[in-house]
Amino acid sequence: MDKNKECYLIKDLAPAYIDNMVSIESKDLIEKHLIDCKDCKEYYNNMNSNIFQDIDKEKTDDLYEFNHLKKIRNHMNYLKISILIIISVIIFFVVGIIIKCNYTNHVFEMSYNKIEELKNLDNYVLIQKTTYKDLKERSGFETTANYYYKDGKYKVVSTGNDINYDNSIDELDTSITYMEDDSLNKIVVFEDLKQIAYYYNQGFVEMKKGDVFEIFTDVINYKRNYTKFSMLGLSIKKKKIDGITYYVIRKDMDNFYKEIWINKDTFTITKIVEESYNNYYREVNYEILVNTVTENDIDTSTLNTDRYKDYKVNYIDNSTQNIWGIKEK
Ligand SMILES: [Zn+2]
Repeated sequence: MDKNKECYLIKDLAPAYIDNMVSIESKDLIEKHLIDCKDCKEYYNNMNSNIFQDIDKEKTDDLYEFNHLKKIRNHMNYLKISILIIISVIIFFVVGIIIKCNYTNHVFEMSYNKIEELKNLDNYVLIQKTTYKDLKERSGFETTANYYYKDGKYKVVSTGNDINYDNSIDELDTSITYMEDDSLNKIVVFEDLKQIAYYYNQGFVEMKKGDVFEIFTDVINYKRNYTKFSMLGLSIKKKKIDGITYYVIRKDMDNFYKEIWINKDTFTITKIVEESYNNYYREVNYEILVNTVTENDIDTSTLNTDRYKDYKVNYIDNSTQNIWGIKEK
């Protein structure tokens, strides 16, 4: 065979040889030729390294694809973890909000039940002290109302004074009101005016047992008019003052806040604070004393004693809107 033709044939067989797809006879022939022919040997070497390069490239491609898949997988894992964290945080907050709403609702519920319980008392004094400050006018007042109750009879003693920022004090009217359960009548003693007014048929003010405790409108309204989720806008905290722990339920708005202080052990309302910033500040403190009222505290016959002998007496019938008698003693 002509050298060129043989070389041509050997080169032609190269891919088959490299892939080990040639017969033993061809293999012998090729290898014999490669010992003698520099040119073909070079050709085979080149082809082999090209193949290796191809194989390397494939490997690199595979590796690249592998890394890429790994990256996607990592990315997916990262996304999964992020979503899990976000969901956990949301669940945490929702559960937190539900717990807080239930907690606040529970405190209101217990306080409401306490009010219902107080309404059944036959002997108590409810002391209500109010401080009001007008933050614009720099003035204000303090009032105290003591509600005495014993076996269906009331005596309400109201006193108060102005607070002036120059520290001067103006006394407000002091009055004593006598009432009874299931009655349309009342007697009011105006200490400063030295007058006693007997009102008949008040009509719209018929006292029922326990009505005095309707004064706690904040808790009563929540219980009657709101759902658990109305508690969303409220915060609740425990505060300890002088060894007594209180639940402080607070509502905050742009320029206003209100706090209801409830004794943790008795669930009675002890304080209500509200402030409209740069406008007014109002604080009402409550105290309830049980079984301290005596017959003397609610006895109207004291009105006939010497202490009141100089007082003018008015008889007022609200059903006719007439003052039908003014009696001067
Ligand atoms: Zn050759």
